[in-house]
Amino acid sequence: MGAIFEQLNTILWNIWHYPDFMDFLDILLLAIFIYQMIIHVRNTRVSQTLKGIVILLFASWLSGVLEMRSIHALLTWIINAGPVMLVVLFQSEIRRILEELGNFDTGNFSDGQSSDNVIDEMTLAVMNMSRRHVGALIVIENGIRLNDVIATGTHVDGLISQPLIENIFEPKTPLHDGAMIVRGDRVIAAACLLRLSDTTGVGRDLGTRHRAGIGMSEVSDATVLIVSEETGAVSLAEGGNLERYLDEQAVRNVLHRVYGDGAGSQRMLPLLQFGKRGQKRDDEQSSNPEN
Ligand code: ATP
Ligand code: MG
Repeated sequence: MGAIFEQLNTILWNIWHYPDFMDFLDILLLAIFIYQMIIHVRNTRVSQTLKGIVILLFASWLSGVLEMRSIHALLTWIINAGPVMLVVLFQSEIRRILEELGNFDTGNFSDGQSSDNVIDEMTLAVMNMSRRHVGALIVIENGIRLNDVIATGTHVDGLISQPLIENIFEPKTPLHDGAMIVRGDRVIAAACLLRLSDTTGVGRDLGTRHRAGIGMSEVSDATVLIVSEETGAVSLAEGGNLERYLDEQAVRNVLHRVYGDGAGSQRMLPLLQFGKRGQKRDDEQSSNPEN
């Protein structure tokens, strides 16, 4: 701990007394990185843990100042073991961030299928299933490939259409149980098994379908639409958050955001995508005050 502070102190002293262009660039890039991380982890379980770490650091510093030796020794031991513990706790989040950093390729549309068409068909299917109280779990792949999830289900690979989606989730049919994975304008797989979220903040009235949707959005950048079999309510899971009671216009807005003006609209640097997604979520929330 002390060594890290000493090193930081030296770096800051050097920057303060002998600043050069590379130092400014260094600080600017670090600031952008920290800003993107904060936007990305806000309201997720990572941010709760970060608050815990800050409290732990403060307690360690205070116990050192007050010379409470045994508490200080224990906290120092915990902090020293911290990096390993963090890697174990957040292995799925770390994997997701690394995958996003290395992924430049998104969206694939077949000839003749426009994004407007996909949005219309999906919205219609979701709202029909909502009216009929047919349970559904739709995972729309974004930047991160979900091949490991697809492998747990049945390969479909069909163009998105309202009848196809409704048929897949029709009760008592072989593919209705589990999640459907969408890539671009195609339904890639159905009856896929997702990892459940262990987030404690999930409402008691929400069962495994909703937890599976939130879990998927925690470990990937996917957009997940959920239709409740019990209530018919439509929900959206993104970045580990669940937004409930979407109406038709809200579903349409979500799909417009995902599909943009077509397949090419999401091709950009992954780090910029982080910010853009957070920004878009904020925009939607501020234009939808009841959510
Ligand atoms: P609903 O409001 O529709 O009842 P719920 O959140 O209460 O949803 P359950 O009633 O437990 O959830 O829904 C069970 C269904 O959710 C299962 O039949 C299955 O289709 C789906 N499901 C449950 N767990 C998973 C999972 N891990 N991966 C994919 N789908 C799952
Ligand atoms: Mg239920």
